[in-house]
Amino acid sequence: MTTCKTALSRREALKLAGAASAALALNPLIAPSKAQAAPIEAKGKIVVIGAGAAGLSTAAKLRDLLKDPDITIIDDTQTHLYQPAFSLIAGGVVSADYPKLDNADYIPEGAKWIKQKAIAIDPDGKSVTTANGETIGYDFLVIAAGIDLNYDAIEGLNRSMLGKNGIASIYAYEGAIAAWDQLRELAKLSESRKVSALFCETTTPLKCGGAPKKIAFLAQDYIRRGGKRDNASLTQMMPGGAWFGVKVYADAIEKLYSKREMSSEFKHKLVKIDANRREAAFAVPKLVMDEELGIEVEKSELVVKPYDFIHVVPNQSGASVVAQNPKLANPTGFLKVNIETLQSETYPEIFGAGDIVATPFGKTGGSARKHYGVVAQNLVDVMQGKEPSQKYNGYTVCPLITNYGSVMMLEFGYKGADGTDTLLPSAPLDPTQERWMWWLLKVHALMPMYKAMLKASA
Ligand SMILES: Cc1cc2nc3c(=O)[nH]c(=O)nc-3n(C[C@H](O)[C@H](O)[C@H](O)COP(=O)(O)OP(=O)(O)OC[C@H]3O[C@@H](n4cnc5c(N)ncnc54)[C@H](O)[C@@H]3O)c2cc1C
Repeated sequence: MTTCKTALSRREALKLAGAASAALALNPLIAPSKAQAAPIEAKGKIVVIGAGAAGLSTAAKLRDLLKDPDITIIDDTQTHLYQPAFSLIAGGVVSADYPKLDNADYIPEGAKWIKQKAIAIDPDGKSVTTANGETIGYDFLVIAAGIDLNYDAIEGLNRSMLGKNGIASIYAYEGAIAAWDQLRELAKLSESRKVSALFCETTTPLKCGGAPKKIAFLAQDYIRRGGKRDNASLTQMMPGGAWFGVKVYADAIEKLYSKREMSSEFKHKLVKIDANRREAAFAVPKLVMDEELGIEVEKSELVVKPYDFIHVVPNQSGASVVAQNPKLANPTGFLKVNIETLQSETYPEIFGAGDIVATPFGKTGGSARKHYGVVAQNLVDVMQGKEPSQKYNGYTVCPLITNYGSVMMLEFGYKGADGTDTLLPSAPLDPTQERWMWWLLKVHALMPMYKAMLKASA
């Protein structure tokens, strides 16, 4: 597979590439890390659960901060998947091999790697049990085990169905690969008849909240380039009542959907799929008159929609090792932490990093990049008997692909105390504009930056 061609002329492309390089050089998204201070001599056994984006970068930062660190990483996966490329795989922009990294290349020097799954955490006894029955004690614990994808929560669906009967999902690696096939099938079908594509979302907290719209925009542009756009009906099916959690970005996204002639349904929650009939059922709230009470009450009715292509988003919860532990998890299965220090408020020797933490925003690789510095320094502070000194501001970044060749860079943080949105753009540019330079960043610069982040050097 090769990178998709865009409709830009070579002259325009060169001009934009020049602007992009200049902006990238200035951009804190890829700014190099600061010089290290002298290593600290604090002692204690640190266990990190999860060798994903957050776990590896936190471990690497701890290795840099401490003089003789005692770090153990627990994760049974050898192949590390760079998930931000899943949307690019689904759009045929990069090959299926592109996101594959080897965890062995990123385990920090001197750290011990236990290739097992953690199956239980005893926060009172300060130990972790692994799938082979080993119990590993710790003085300090970093939980960075990411998110579990629960496709089964949608009736009639399970993960093995991705790629069949028009069902796509870029949240799973194999689903992203299958989505590229499904998308081409849909485009082919649109050459001979009208087609319908549904792009669903979920009610649970989710990683990269913009991803369900990235695939919709890619599908729109792909079919448009095939010349039969008029034959395709593309609908975003949202369980909530808003396009996005940040108003100015929601408004900008709404305008783009209108411009691209894509439709939308709010308050439509996907609850059931009949794969053989290619029909999806959505729970939709409806006001009905309660004769006994004499008032209108909200009930849920099922609305069934046929489709040729459906993009599903699984329900998501923190990794089961946390979700099943009521001492650590909130009701949706994410790790309870102070949303600024990322320290457990019940167990001060426990910190969380990455998607697993129960923060209002922050389930992106860009957020993990901010987490690791905060968590590593705060953990070292606690090792030294001090209070955590660093605060995470909710930084979240979603490079929202809006076409082949354009991305809107949505960057934001925690809302203000009065509920106002906080925009955190990395460049002095209008963040509501789709830009070619952000596409270049997404496709060419973010993977190298991610690799550097895993070594705590970006
Ligand atoms: C389709 C898609 C598009 C995305 N696009 C972007 C983007 O453009 N930009 C961006 O910044 N982010 C994006 N993201 C989000 C980004 O990939 C995640 O936020 C990031 O990977 C989170 O890092 P993490 O370390 O918390 O979790 P992960 O990287 O998922 O790592 C979790 C690790 O924990 C391990 N683990 C799980 N359970 C256990 C256990 N019991 N014991 C031991 N180990 C365990 C897993 O094996 C895994 O290695 C995207 C994600 C998806 C799915």
